[in-house]
Amino acid sequence: MYRSHNCGELTAANINTEVTLSGWVQKSRDKGFIVWVDLRDRYGITQLVFDEERTSKTLIEQAQNLGREFVIQVKGEVIERASKNPNIPTGDIEILVSELIILNKSLLPPFTIEDKTDGGEDIRMKYRYLDIRRNPVKNSLIFRHKVTQEVRNYLSKEGFIEVETPYLIKSTPEGARDFVVPSRMNEGQFYALPQSPQTFKQLLMVGGMDKYFQIVKCFRDEDLRADRQPEFTQIDCEMAFIEQEDILNAFEGLTRHLLKEVNGVDVEKFPRLLYDDAMRLYGNDKPDIRFGMEFGELNEVTQHKEFGVFNNAELVVGIAVPGGNSYTRKEIDKLIDWVKRPQVGALGMIYSRCNDDGSFKSSVDKFYDQDDLAKWAEITGAKKGDLVCVLSGETNKVRAQLSALRMELAERLGLRDPKVFAPLWVIDFPLLELDEETGHYHAMHHPFTSPKPGQLELLETNPGEVKANAYDLVLNGNEIGGGSIRIHDKQTQAIMLKHLGFSDEDAKAQFGFLMDAFEYGAPPHGGLAFGLDRLVAILGGQETIRDFIAFPKNNSGRDVMIDAPAPIDDEQLTELSLKLNLKS
Ligand code: ASP
Repeated sequence: MYRSHNCGELTAANINTEVTLSGWVQKSRDKGFIVWVDLRDRYGITQLVFDEERTSKTLIEQAQNLGREFVIQVKGEVIERASKNPNIPTGDIEILVSELIILNKSLLPPFTIEDKTDGGEDIRMKYRYLDIRRNPVKNSLIFRHKVTQEVRNYLSKEGFIEVETPYLIKSTPEGARDFVVPSRMNEGQFYALPQSPQTFKQLLMVGGMDKYFQIVKCFRDEDLRADRQPEFTQIDCEMAFIEQEDILNAFEGLTRHLLKEVNGVDVEKFPRLLYDDAMRLYGNDKPDIRFGMEFGELNEVTQHKEFGVFNNAELVVGIAVPGGNSYTRKEIDKLIDWVKRPQVGALGMIYSRCNDDGSFKSSVDKFYDQDDLAKWAEITGAKKGDLVCVLSGETNKVRAQLSALRMELAERLGLRDPKVFAPLWVIDFPLLELDEETGHYHAMHHPFTSPKPGQLELLETNPGEVKANAYDLVLNGNEIGGGSIRIHDKQTQAIMLKHLGFSDEDAKAQFGFLMDAFEYGAPPHGGLAFGLDRLVAILGGQETIRDFIAFPKNNSGRDVMIDAPAPIDDEQLTELSLKLNLKS
């Protein structure tokens, strides 16, 4: 028996009992005649004591030679501590050790296994198994477990069945590149790893499963923007015989359940925002609504004067910064530099101070009088003491720029409290999105998303205007889930694929299996998927997802611990009938 108790459970109630504990040496303090060792496991820390008066000399020497992270087993008596530690559950007691066995030695770890470690990200990733011993990572993994457990509980209770779908499949169109796996038995042929189980979950609906979910890995070969992982986890869901309303209610229910069970937070009914309104009010399809600072469009009240910058702009739009009139000239100049950074890309920023006496002072007083500026304040909702910041230019660009400024200012103003949860649905997304580079439309969500009823004809005349039965669930400025009502008849699916530029042959080759299935009694269906990693991070009040993933990859998509990806040997290549043609 390695242990009678774990390192987190002994209290004053156990005093005078004999116990056996196993764990890692967190640290030791050696006073010569007395040695204390902190013994750690997943459950906590228990203090061990070896002292001259009560323990043998050899045992003290053994204790003195313990290194950090040695794995040991001890037997001893639970005694009351002289100086108690109220900060930990075991703080009232210590173990007077009578027997010590070293189960395994440890090299000196390359960073300290403490909550605040001296190890940088790279080294911690390389020795992730040591990093996992630290509370911040350990607790994040436990937290994730709790979330997934609640997801399973809730969905199972609601009648969803968890079904596994294959990983070795054929391309699924979620808009990224596929990771591919060569098939040895089928020379020259490749599987693709699923970007999501999209087509399979639809086939499960054709198969009559009615309500499906799966906590599942997805693989997307994308350039890794900050905090993205090439493999990530989704809570993937699909339902049959439903309308959009049913889906929104079902998954609002799940989200509310998680917020309640995991965070102890009750949230009212989630607001719903049309995609067009989200873009107009926040310049963003995943608005953070923990705070206001909504956009005010100012074209009408700015384009009647001689100010060319505004007159030539497609959109003039501003936000009110609460208390922003207190910014010094220098601070405002810095803000202007901030929006001009290449990452934001604005050409400049106009501002108007809202003074306490009700007057205004703008950077364009030459062009605009007090009445004009009063209108800016009114439209942006600025009050006395605020600052109105105005950007102008091409609609899409300027919205993105002002959205970035809004988020930055909110961060600086402390309006993005991770303990506050503000979920919402963004609905009625466009069906298609124009790729500026190629001039082609592609599916904004994916090609199986159904257009709004009656809009199919618009596809011919005005494809950019067609709205989809597609929705995103947004939490604190992050898209945590997205889905759609699907097309469930072959003909509509064929029209859709045609508009996305698929030839009949391509459509058949890639999605023939799905379209064929639609001919055998496909029920109306729809669903969505949550990004689990991000969801867990947000519920956990963190910005980055890495700590919530046991073995994450770095920004170049590498696992630096196992050193992957890695070359394969010639024999394997030959077996797979592959020849390398390396660019460098
Ligand atoms: N497959 C979609 C995605 O990964 C989710 C869905 O439409 O259900 O975003």
